[in-house]
Amino acid sequence: MQSHSFCVTIHPMGKTVELYYESAYITEFDANVLECREREDGKFEAVLDKTAFFPEQGGQTPDFGVLITQDNEEFTVSYTGIGKTSDGAGDEIYHVIDKSIEAGACVHGRIDWEHRFSNMQQHTGEHIFSGIVNSKFGYDNVGFHLSDTEVTMDYNGALSTEDIKEIEKSVNEAIWKNIKVVASFPSEDELKYIPYRSKKELSGAIRIVNIEGYDSCACCAPHVERTGEIGFLKVVSVRNYKGGVRVNILCGKRALEFLTLGHEILSGLAADFTTSFDKVSSSVSRLKDENAALKAELYAEREKLLKYELSEIDKDLKNVFLFKSADTDMNIMRKTVNMLAEEHAGFCGMFAGNDSDGYRYIIASGKDGGDARTVAQLLREKFGAKGGGSDLMVQGSIAGVSLDDISECCNNL
Ligand SMILES: [Zn+2]
Repeated sequence: MQSHSFCVTIHPMGKTVELYYESAYITEFDANVLECREREDGKFEAVLDKTAFFPEQGGQTPDFGVLITQDNEEFTVSYTGIGKTSDGAGDEIYHVIDKSIEAGACVHGRIDWEHRFSNMQQHTGEHIFSGIVNSKFGYDNVGFHLSDTEVTMDYNGALSTEDIKEIEKSVNEAIWKNIKVVASFPSEDELKYIPYRSKKELSGAIRIVNIEGYDSCACCAPHVERTGEIGFLKVVSVRNYKGGVRVNILCGKRALEFLTLGHEILSGLAADFTTSFDKVSSSVSRLKDENAALKAELYAEREKLLKYELSEIDKDLKNVFLFKSADTDMNIMRKTVNMLAEEHAGFCGMFAGNDSDGYRYIIASGKDGGDARTVAQLLREKFGAKGGGSDLMVQGSIAGVSLDDISECCNNL
């Protein structure tokens, strides 16, 4: 870490020395403000003669932190990016701050190290993972995304669950070997003899990040110095994606937080079932089976009850409508309405729901064969009901209408 002394040297305009290439562990630095310009959103962009703030690039989130002037005025850096220079001639790194800072001012910069180190852990973990996928399966990492909540890699080939388990194990072995991570800028001649992974054709100065025995990759991002600092890597999910797979990983503290959450949930479930961790899964299966059996029993009981209810209705009654609670099963509704329609003339129907959430309905034409769609049409005109069907049966839903209004409408059919 650098000492808290302010600089006086001024570098050429539009040229920022990238301190993270000297060391990924520079968390504080002194610099001069070369330019500060207002943005359309009212914030400001400051360009410095040197910076340890890594800008957003290559699918990775930028560094955040603060710039402090000699008068101890603090400027929060909410974003670091790469943009065109004022004259449009080249690219430069800018720091987004919420108020204006004077050009020529000396500032002390401090990056949010916890955030940066987490990004370094994830990124180096990704390199090892992609290096192993490349050497064992021959697939390329064709997409990489490192946000503050997730890390995803896209590979242009399929990986089975067993493959993923094996790769995850190999990555963690590489982490525990505590291998040195070496970044270098080889000359064009040297590059010809170095095999390395790259997502695109590169030109200009190329930075190679090498993890002996596992990976060699063109990359501009800060990395941990030794693989052991990653802690461990956990694959969180894998899904098919564009003919290949998208793998979600977490490293270090993020992996620990993920597993801690999973452990808490599992512990809670184990306590609820008064069982041990390894038996939670079978307890859940048993509960699901019991639930299915109870549902079937409930269904049968409700059917019996309805049959009894229907037997009590006078057979000569025309236009029979029943109103039931929201949890009434659609199959039971259909069955009941069919049974009613066989016995009664006019229209027979059932509404299930309540005034606040609305109602589902099924209506059938009775034994004298009216067109059920006329009732659906009436409900649509009167209450804005949705739905449709055939002349024999219609179904749909109604919202924002009281049971009394629906009942009155049905009674006047
Ligand atoms: Zn990289």
